[in-house]
Amino acid sequence: MTKTWETIIGLEIHAQLSTDSKIFCGCSTHFGDEPNANTCPVCLGLPGALPVLNRRAVELGARAALALGLQINNRSIFARKNYFYPDLPKGYQISQFDQPFSANGELEIMTAERDEAGHPLEWRPKKITITRLHLEEDAGKNVHEGLPDIDRYSYIDLNRAGTPLAEIVTEPDFRTSWEAYDYVNHVRRALQWVGASEADMEKGNLRCEANVSVRRRGDEKFGTKVELKNLNSVRFMHRAIEFEVERQTGVLEAGGRLQQETRLWDERAAETRVMRSKEEAHDYRYFPEPDLPPLQVSDEFIAEVRDAMPELPEARRKRFMEAYGLSFPDASQLTSERSLADYYEKAAEASGDPRAASNWIRTELLRELDAAGLTAQASTVSPEELGSLVRLINDDKISGKQGKEVLHEMFKSGKTANAVIEERGLVQVSDTGEIDRIIDEVIASNPSQLEQYRAGKEALFGFFVGQVIKASKGKANPKIVNERLKAKLG
Ligand code: ADP
Ligand code: MG
Ligand code: ZN
Repeated sequence: MTKTWETIIGLEIHAQLSTDSKIFCGCSTHFGDEPNANTCPVCLGLPGALPVLNRRAVELGARAALALGLQINNRSIFARKNYFYPDLPKGYQISQFDQPFSANGELEIMTAERDEAGHPLEWRPKKITITRLHLEEDAGKNVHEGLPDIDRYSYIDLNRAGTPLAEIVTEPDFRTSWEAYDYVNHVRRALQWVGASEADMEKGNLRCEANVSVRRRGDEKFGTKVELKNLNSVRFMHRAIEFEVERQTGVLEAGGRLQQETRLWDERAAETRVMRSKEEAHDYRYFPEPDLPPLQVSDEFIAEVRDAMPELPEARRKRFMEAYGLSFPDASQLTSERSLADYYEKAAEASGDPRAASNWIRTELLRELDAAGLTAQASTVSPEELGSLVRLINDDKISGKQGKEVLHEMFKSGKTANAVIEERGLVQVSDTGEIDRIIDEVIASNPSQLEQYRAGKEALFGFFVGQVIKASKGKANPKIVNERLKAKLG
């Protein structure tokens, strides 16, 4: 991006709703089954088969809409979107058009530009208008085998056909690729948080298209937009937008014109390539789906869904900052996922020291969880036990250094903090009588050092601390050793 040009981005996200069965039939949505195992006359598009709307898909769609701050319409209309493709057995997709399930949301996200190394600079809030969220069915999948034009076979797997999707479209409100990046992460977390979708881009249950254009700074009118597809991760999306902005400004600066077209991101070649131009664009000939009545949702239904929802991630982050004195980055990390936030809250309670609990979780526990490929929910160390560990450290029962060792062992064996401490004989000695006794011994057996110290060689204080800790086999509480040594050495 240059000073002369401004980037304009609008995003379209397709999120698969986490239902057990499809949106208009009872077939399973289970992933990875034998091709075409989960099909029936409805999702195969056989003549005469009639769709019936899955109530759970509406519930999850409502959760998604509420989590993103959208209004839910009491009445919406399903519509046929007509186009031909082998993975679309009916020759149309049941979607929504001019009367969508949900519309007009204003969503505040936190966003930051990044430095060269990818580190966030300054976090700031930004409001994004979500135009609509509508419900629709997914298509099947074409599977290709062999080399193009030589020995090529194509197969059609309709297991995915009829899986419920929420399509979420924004206004062209983003001005940088990082804003788009932070928005997708925000939506992804919100959908996972309320259980509406797994929202995993790598698995394809969250798909994103970016509409990108550039204009001269100060211009009112938007430039010609290009739609980017095949963005299989937020990183890819970010790279694709950056590439596209460079390409578009290059064309315009050379006096050229841009085509309105769809381009595919090729991660290996690190470039976007034309997929289809505007001339080839579909006319979908939308019309109301005659086989489904209008979708009516009552205010009571919406209120019920709202009441059943957990506290939303942004609200929870703010509460963590206010109630527990956490910084923005720390609170953000602890609310990156719901089970982690739940874990933290319990551990903070049990520890009596929310900031220390935050530090232990963000560093030591998350390292263990990452290495084991687990979420906080599946942690072998319960939040209550993590809380006890923090307490034991705060009460000087063990040192912070010993604490790391203990946590590692707790994680590995599932044992309690006390059990590990006892087993390893780790208990920190804080008993002043015991420590005084060791100090006296150490002083008695190092008369020349004592003499030098008393003569003004203060650096030897550290020597005495070291000797005492060593004599205690590392168990003496360093804080108390320091205090008592100062008193005794004078
Ligand atoms: P289409 O009919 O081509 O799908 P829409 O008007 O429905 O276009 O917009 C699709 C997406 O493109 C929306 O997210 C919208 O915000 C975005 N968009 C529209 N115009 C522009 C533009 N000039 N630059 C960038 N994004 C745009
Ligand atoms: Mg579109
Ligand atoms: Zn079916």
